[in-house]
Amino acid sequence: MYYSRKRLMIDLPEEMTTIWSCTNEKCNGWMRDNFVFLIQPICGQCNSFMEKSEKMLPILANTSPNQTKH
Ligand SMILES: [Zn+2]
Repeated sequence: MYYSRKRLMIDLPEEMTTIWSCTNEKCNGWMRDNFVFLIQPICGQCNSFMEKSEKMLPILANTSPNQTKH
């Protein structure tokens, strides 16, 4: 018995998203550019520098951080 992951992928529309990925080869940490507010973000997992990259990701609903922050 196994689940098809492919089907889930099809249901979610994806787009090339700008992300920051960790420069540490042993770490697979990354974050969306949308959530980065620093010029040079640091990996939250290993504190290494991060570099800009791109990744196919499900499209996020447009959430404004200005509205959720108090
Ligand atoms: Zn890292």
